[in-house]
Amino acid sequence: MSIFVEAVSKTYRVRRHEPVRALSGIDLEAHDGELVVVVGPSGSGKTTLLRCVAGLEHPDSGRIDVGGSDVTDLPPGERDVAMVFQEYALFPHLSVRDNIGFGLLARRQPKDQVATKVDNAAMLMGIRDALDRRPAQLSGGERQRVALARAIVRSPAAFLLDEPLSDLDAELRTFMRSEIRALQRRLETTTLYVTHDQTEALTMGDRVAILRGGRVEQFAAPADIYARPASTFVARFIGTPPMNVVPAGLLGAGDGFAGLRPEHVRITPDGAGRLQGRVVHEDALGHEVIVHVAVGDEVLLARSPVPQAPGLHATTGLDYDDTDVYAFNADGKARP
Ligand code: ADP
Ligand code: MG
Repeated sequence: MSIFVEAVSKTYRVRRHEPVRALSGIDLEAHDGELVVVVGPSGSGKTTLLRCVAGLEHPDSGRIDVGGSDVTDLPPGERDVAMVFQEYALFPHLSVRDNIGFGLLARRQPKDQVATKVDNAAMLMGIRDALDRRPAQLSGGERQRVALARAIVRSPAAFLLDEPLSDLDAELRTFMRSEIRALQRRLETTTLYVTHDQTEALTMGDRVAILRGGRVEQFAAPADIYARPASTFVARFIGTPPMNVVPAGLLGAGDGFAGLRPEHVRITPDGAGRLQGRVVHEDALGHEVIVHVAVGDEVLLARSPVPQAPGLHATTGLDYDDTDVYAFNADGKARP
């Protein structure tokens, strides 16, 4: 089932506080079976957007459509979407089995059917051995799987996942990323996946919506976002390390801003190359070094093979090709 979000705006009004405009005219869509990642810094409106789709918040204006019907005014229970929250929200006094089956039993589904569905969902998530345990007896990764199983068991039209991996350590997060993606492909359930992690966004999303201050800054396939960032904001947000964005004059690129990826900056001997600078910091990553070079008032990052890294405080030349330079207008928008 597809999801359409059309011109959705939402302002929080809390007494004796300034109103907070969390969403400003959000347009977004996820086709049937698609996984769309919503990524952005903290406070950019990701959770609010997901809560609007789930029906936990009501937009001030705009329209939300799930599976071809307008659900804007429907309560959460009538939307056929399953949301997984960042903090899982498992019932501590219930077993894993009862946690997973809770929603179905609350809807008065027959107990034997619920038992079969819970078993299947637990098997899909690899937690059948844990069915009789309580949440406190589980690892973080297992709790995470229970929360997902609780969503899966309902066979909803759509999954809404809000930073589901943020409480896991880095290794488990990387593993669960591919697990969730594989599971979502198998189930073919339309999914909105929220994260603040750009690597998660690029690796998991069929398409990625980048949120900034309650607006969609860019909505495209990961490869397109990487190849053609719509703005300096996106350019600085995507990539490890992200693109260098400097006043265009520094790279001889006219007005506005110019972008250059760290992998396109070449370290050259002192005195050679188009730019001269001084190394102010080096991140040694083992297989390569990220060299931070002060050039005038700017600092450019260069990815360097280990032997070529000049060393802290060394003066060095830098070189680059004009074809690798991205051009942005003074307002930060990419020049077509
Ligand atoms: P994100 O999930 O991207 O971190 P949120 O959607 O949680 O962002 O928040 C967007 C903005 O709305 C923030 O400025 C936040 O402080 C504000 N906000 C979120 N929830 C509420 C609320 N219940 N009451 C008032 N302001 C809120
Ligand atoms: Mg959030």
